[in-house]
Amino acid sequence: MTLYADLHRHLGGALHPRIIYKFLQRQDHKVLSYFPDYDGFYNWFTRPCRTLEEFVKIHSLVEELQSLEHLPYFCLRLCRGAYTFENLQYLELRYNPYFRTDHDLPTPKRLGQMNLIVEVITANLRPAEYPITVKQILCFDRRLPKNINEAILKVAQDNLGPVVGVDLAGPEINTEKTEEWIKLMARARASGLKTTCHLGETSVDNVDPRYFATLDRIGHGIHIPLAKPEYLKELAKRQITLEVCPTSYRQTGVLKDFSDLRTVFARCRDAGVAVAVCTDNPGRNPAPCTLPGEYERLIDHDVIDFGDLKEIQNEGFRSAFGFVGSTRL
Ligand SMILES: [Zn+2]
Repeated sequence: MTLYADLHRHLGGALHPRIIYKFLQRQDHKVLSYFPDYDGFYNWFTRPCRTLEEFVKIHSLVEELQSLEHLPYFCLRLCRGAYTFENLQYLELRYNPYFRTDHDLPTPKRLGQMNLIVEVITANLRPAEYPITVKQILCFDRRLPKNINEAILKVAQDNLGPVVGVDLAGPEINTEKTEEWIKLMARARASGLKTTCHLGETSVDNVDPRYFATLDRIGHGIHIPLAKPEYLKELAKRQITLEVCPTSYRQTGVLKDFSDLRTVFARCRDAGVAVAVCTDNPGRNPAPCTLPGEYERLIDHDVIDFGDLKEIQNEGFRSAFGFVGSTRL
């Protein structure tokens, strides 16, 4: 059996819509007044969006559901699904701990609750029956003020081990704060955390080459080979891996067709830039969206050859932040 590693998956987008719907029913949640049956919910939840902003809005709804008391429910289900249906041996799960704190509390109390959020997630990502290794990446957010992002860094540093890295997520806005975020990444790295950053997902506008000195990987970055291929040389030199999530680009309206990724893969290969294929938000994609399914779609659309498969699957393990051991491929 081939085992896989997924390096880019959001806790808010990792769960099958059926699991979310059942949870809403158990809670008798008010959102069900819009969705009296599952099909309506499924179609809304997995529909392609026109923009990344629109996509992120639904993501925020799930983040609020994943509060402290309900995190064990979601963590168990995502681990068993990833192991049973996707053959994942290793998963890096990313999330923003602040968005899962109690929204009714004042900010200082919410900041104080973040450590508990990480502890509860850590305790519930090791179900005995499903031997999958799950490591955590904590996300800063472009919408949050500096002090909250700094508090997220502190929580990541305090939980180094189960937490292996940090990421910068959220809509691609506020580029005037680029320097602030680069400094955060540099501080994270200096304390032993690995770094990745959502960059170049919808356009190349937020790709500032100053980021490169502080990053181990780039979340997406597909517009670098598409629009600024001259940057690839530096990515190769610094051994920065791109996390490419094929179906996601259709769901967020970034690409119209998988074949648009041919240029991304070809230019990265020619420049010696590693690519890891990942899922991003598989629960938000029309089912079944799994990591093995993403590989299959890339072959189907002539983005990669079947012969490239092993190499690309291995990249998931090689570029991992916290994988110890050998790949099974
Ligand atoms: Zn992402």
